[in-house]
Amino acid sequence: MNRLYIYPIILTIAFALFSADASPVTASDDCPPLDRTQPTAAHVVTADLDYAAKTVHVRQQTRYINQTAEALNDLAFNAAPNRWSGVMALGEVRAGDIALDFALDGTRISFDLPEALATGCEVHITLDFTLALPDATGGPTRRKGYFGHTPRQINLGRWLPTVAPRIDGRWITHQPIMIGEQDILEVADWDVTLILHNSPPDVLVAGPGIGGRVDANHWHFVHASAREIAFSLSPQFREDAALTHDGAVVNAYTLSATSPMAAAHFLEVAAQSLSIYGNLFTPYPRERLVVVQGDFPDGMEFDGLVFVGDGWFVNWNGEPRSYLTLITAHEVAHQWWYARVGNDSALAPWLDEALATYSEYLYLELAYPQITDWWWHFRVDNLAPQGFVDGTVYEFSNAREYINAVYLRGVRFLHDLRGDLGDDAFFALLRDYATTYDGQIATPDDFWALLTAEQRELTAATRARYLRQPDIDG
Ligand SMILES: [Zn+2]
Repeated sequence: MNRLYIYPIILTIAFALFSADASPVTASDDCPPLDRTQPTAAHVVTADLDYAAKTVHVRQQTRYINQTAEALNDLAFNAAPNRWSGVMALGEVRAGDIALDFALDGTRISFDLPEALATGCEVHITLDFTLALPDATGGPTRRKGYFGHTPRQINLGRWLPTVAPRIDGRWITHQPIMIGEQDILEVADWDVTLILHNSPPDVLVAGPGIGGRVDANHWHFVHASAREIAFSLSPQFREDAALTHDGAVVNAYTLSATSPMAAAHFLEVAAQSLSIYGNLFTPYPRERLVVVQGDFPDGMEFDGLVFVGDGWFVNWNGEPRSYLTLITAHEVAHQWWYARVGNDSALAPWLDEALATYSEYLYLELAYPQITDWWWHFRVDNLAPQGFVDGTVYEFSNAREYINAVYLRGVRFLHDLRGDLGDDAFFALLRDYATTYDGQIATPDDFWALLTAEQRELTAATRARYLRQPDIDG
């Protein structure tokens, strides 16, 4: 080839490479048409976890596609770990190779993009940060012990920043408080490599999705179309597994101090409720569900992984009539009411909490029908619940008031709706809600939009009894 021709080719290639490196934002002419079936964000994470020091160094690469109708000049992430002071040190935010000025204000990370991101275009953001995990053995961090460490366990729940949803031209971040949750999470694709340092020899990592141990200190998990990705680590885990009738695997991780009977009951309730809900709502879409005995109070839902608190195992009476049964069935139900159908957990918590609590009853109706009367008394009426079901987490002065109104009056509300509509229409409504808003963030208006005009009429008196905003036609 003539030397004179080679020069321009080399220059063209060099320019193309340089352009690709210099511009972190895909040029608008090149952006494909919107495909709303794929998540707006895909995260590739490498995390070095020092088990002895209780620290994690994270490099999180996020590909974000602008699926809004407007060009975006800035971006925001929600960073739950920064609810605690002294936990999160955010070292660097980059778009492509360009280091960005950023603000970490409360639980929001915000920054301007180096150039406008047109609709359909994508940007590659890198976050580099360190977490000093909170001690979850006492104080307020104990109740939120799904993120933190105890002598028996390290939990990584809500540990990775998520892109804030863009709603009505605003990035949504909620003020964290101790009552309820304040997350609003879009589905995203997750690929996480955990590298363990200074860990006890027998440590196991419980994680959702597809994956597991790669070598002695190296774990890798891929979790597609998920609200988040949570892990639990312990050198004291016992691992049990069951297969549901529909072919999903349930992996149960219990602490070695727990009786084998309690561990077996936990696994049985988890697998049985997963099958029952799959039949009642929509089929469970994942290959696995991971259920973990959390070394902290109560329980907590994540996508593909749930925690049930240690206290329910320690105090288990050996019978189905127990919080171990109820909280397990409750957290499994969040795989539908939270994980598949998302909602704003701060402003409309009833959409997941009332439904998850009522799902406990639906589980008992089919699995243990002889104890449904006990459930109404023990779980609900005994506490004489008061308050509006559609309250936000910000309007209650303590957790008991919040649970009584949103969860417990919530189940009375749903049961009365069922009475108004009849069983066939009520279960059709739940199936319709689970299907229509799968992978989305649903609002109360979305829920009510599924009712026919006649059903709105039929349920008007019930709505007026329980809701602050009973008028759904406006
Ligand atoms: Zn719940």
